[in-house]
Amino acid sequence: MNKEEIVAWLRTTDVEKQEELWKMADEVRRRNLGDDVHLRGLIEISNSCARNCWYCGIRADNAELERYRMPADEILASALEAVSYEYGTIVLQAGEDYGITLEWMEKLIRRIKSETDLAVTLSLGERSEAELAAWRKAGADRYLMRFETSNSELYEKIHPPLPGKGSDRIQLLKRLREIGYEIGSGVMIGIPGQTYEDLANDIELFRTLDLDMIGVGPFIAHSGTPLGSADVCPNAPEGIQVPNTEEMTYKVIALTRLACPLANIPSTTALATLNIKTGRELGLARGANIVMPNMTPRRYRAMYEIYPAKACIDETAADCRACMRGRILTTGRSIGSGRGDSRNKKDKVA
Ligand code: SAH
Repeated sequence: MNKEEIVAWLRTTDVEKQEELWKMADEVRRRNLGDDVHLRGLIEISNSCARNCWYCGIRADNAELERYRMPADEILASALEAVSYEYGTIVLQAGEDYGITLEWMEKLIRRIKSETDLAVTLSLGERSEAELAAWRKAGADRYLMRFETSNSELYEKIHPPLPGKGSDRIQLLKRLREIGYEIGSGVMIGIPGQTYEDLANDIELFRTLDLDMIGVGPFIAHSGTPLGSADVCPNAPEGIQVPNTEEMTYKVIALTRLACPLANIPSTTALATLNIKTGRELGLARGANIVMPNMTPRRYRAMYEIYPAKACIDETAADCRACMRGRILTTGRSIGSGRGDSRNKKDKVA
């Protein structure tokens, strides 16, 4: 599918055409990956952050927020809980928190890997090459870092670099692959200023980066951020600006599945936030094969408010497990066992 075709799909409002897209994506998912849905336990280990991204509620300048960093023992307890829930993977996510040092993280990864068979995914932002290599050596398997948008002008605006440091996530993703990680990335959908053409470029970039995991979700404005006030970053002209809707998110999931048949694609929390009743299920029915139940201890959840009214904020890890399993089974899919490694990487190595 070329870029013009992707743009045409993104723009279509024809319900029958959309149905056709959902069907194609579901079929490609089924043929390549089967019916298993893998669960990744998400542990939001710190909301401290050095950066000031214009979209994100845990940005450094948000003084309203109480900050936390989970102690290592507590993270390990969550990892053991993930084992008891038969999850094959945990995702350790945080703000770009330099209080998480190379040594501290290295020790934590080694503990988790020696006490469990879990695959460990890190999502800790743009860390140094030395840190990324040390954490891989300690046993971390995968790294998740969205490039947010392939429009470099928009990216530079909404994702200011740290003083004296450039921010090239696309380059860093390539390095992560060389270091030996499975790599995951993705974008937000409907960022003010993001055009249909930009979004089609994003999907093409997923393919050329040859990603193992691709997470996409709607942009949700947070009042404590610059993008929370419309005048800072205006929308592209009407008809060109991508809307941050549920429907657009399904289109991007489906088109991503067609572009990257073997990638692991989650049905995300941001999507569930727009449609708490059936968003997860519809994501799974339109190309996704992964869900990421939240395992963050309940007392921290409200503090990891990257966007407002985030789904699952009042639940416990056990609630989220029961909810996700129920949703998967009622859609006629099965629960994946094992680590759910990327078929993309495996098939290439084989
Ligand atoms: N510090 C890590 C993790 C960030 S949170 C990093 O920067 O990679 C994970 C993802 O949440 C971000 O990559 C971004 O795509 C998404 N996110 C942040 N703010 C959001 C918002 N307002 N609406 C929707 N998604 C958002």
